[in-house]
Amino acid sequence: MNIHEYQAKELLRAYGVPVPPGEVVYSNRAAARVAEELGGSRWVVKAQIHAGGRGKAGGVKLANTPQKVAELADQMIGRRLATAQTDQEGQLVQRVLVERASKIEREFYLSLIVDRVSQRIVVIASAEGGVDVEEVAASNPDAMHKEYVDPGVGLLDFQCRKIATAIGLASRAASFTRLMKRIYRLFRDKDCLLLEINPFIVSEDGDLLALDGKMSFDDNALFRQGEIVELRDFDEEDPKEVEAFGHGLNYIALDGSVGCIVNGAGLAMATMDAIVLHGGRPANFLDVGGGASAEKVANAFRIVLKDPNVKAILVNIFAGINRCDWIAQGVVQATRDQRIEVPIVVRLAGTNVEEGRKILDESGLDLIQAEDLDDAAVKAVASLDGAVAGGVLQ
Ligand code: GDP
Ligand code: MN
Repeated sequence: MNIHEYQAKELLRAYGVPVPPGEVVYSNRAAARVAEELGGSRWVVKAQIHAGGRGKAGGVKLANTPQKVAELADQMIGRRLATAQTDQEGQLVQRVLVERASKIEREFYLSLIVDRVSQRIVVIASAEGGVDVEEVAASNPDAMHKEYVDPGVGLLDFQCRKIATAIGLASRAASFTRLMKRIYRLFRDKDCLLLEINPFIVSEDGDLLALDGKMSFDDNALFRQGEIVELRDFDEEDPKEVEAFGHGLNYIALDGSVGCIVNGAGLAMATMDAIVLHGGRPANFLDVGGGASAEKVANAFRIVLKDPNVKAILVNIFAGINRCDWIAQGVVQATRDQRIEVPIVVRLAGTNVEEGRKILDESGLDLIQAEDLDDAAVKAVASLDGAVAGGVLQ
C-alpha cells in the first residue's frame, strides 16, 4: 500500500524529521488561504498523486503570490497528471499540497528499502538527489551509497556517519545521524517496504529538510497498522485490484493479453511462466484461493474481462480441497452470463476431474480444454490468433 506525499510528511514530522510547513487542500480558494496563513513570499504547489516524476511533468510549481498559488491549484485540481511513473492517461489530481517554498542549497537522495537479496533494510543515499536520480542510478551507480542494516542491532551511528561522509555532509554528521535514526525508526514501526526522500535538502539557512516523501507499506502487515490503513486512497489504485480485494481474490494487473484465473499463488506463478515460455504475456496474476466457489470464479471472470487488453483467458485449476465439477460449473455459468467473446482455455486437474470435464463437454460452449499446464499455455497463446478451436478434449 502506498500513501500521498502530504501523508508521508505528516508521519515524518511526527517522528521529528523536519519537513516544510504546509497543508493539503482540495480547492483553489483553500490554497490561497493556506498560503496566506503560512506566510512568507514564495510557495510551492504540489499535485498529490501516488506516482513520482511530478516535477518534470508540471505537477510541482512555485508561486510568488497567494493569487498565483490559487491559479496553480486551479490548474492542477480536477486534471489528470501523466508522469514517467503513471500510464499515458495519468492520475486524476484531487488535492494539492501547498507549502512555504524552501531555498535549496543542496539536494540529496535518501531512501530505505527492504532488500530481498540481503534480507536486510538498506539505506541508499546520494549527493546527486533531485528529479534526475533515476539516470544517476543507471549511469553512475557508484554515486549511490549503500549501507546494510543488521536487523539484530539496527542502524548504528557509525553507519550514519559513513553515509553523511559519502554524500558530503560530514560537517553535519551529528544532526544527520539523529535524523537518520528517526527515519529508520519510522520505517520499522510502520512496517515499510520503501521510504524515499528525494530530495532531502540543505536549505540556504543550513537546515536539513525532507522536501519530498514517498512511503510504501507491507500489505501483509496492514492488519497491525490501523493508523496506516486509514490513509489508504482507493482512487490511486487499479479499480480491478480494489474490486478483487473486496471479493477475496488476489489480483494484480499486468500488461499482457492472456487473462489468468488460477487457484493457488504457486500455480498462478507457474501459469504466468508457461505463458511467457510459449510466447505470450499474462494480463494479470490472479489467485482465486483454495475454496474457489462458482461465484468466486464468476467474479474472477468479471474482473479479468474489465481489462480491455485481455484477448484470451486461461483457467488453470488444480483441485485438492476444491472440486473440478464446481469449478467447471462456475466457468460454464460465467461464460453464459457474461457473454464472453474471447477464447477460453480450461485446464482442470485433481479431485473430480472427470465430472468437471464432462460438464465442460456437455455445456455446448466453445471452451478449449487442455490436458496439462504446458498444453494450456500453448493453446492460450495460439488462441490469440484464432489458431485453436473449442470442443471436446481429445
Ligand atoms: P517529484 O518530481 O514527484 O519527485 O516531486 P518533488 O517533490 O521531488 O519535487 C520536484 C522538484 O521540485 C524537487 O526536486 C525540487 O528541485 C523542486 N522543489 C520542490 N519543492 C521545492 C521548494 O520548496 N523550493 C524549490 N526551490 N524547489 C522545490
Ligand atoms: Mn521527488
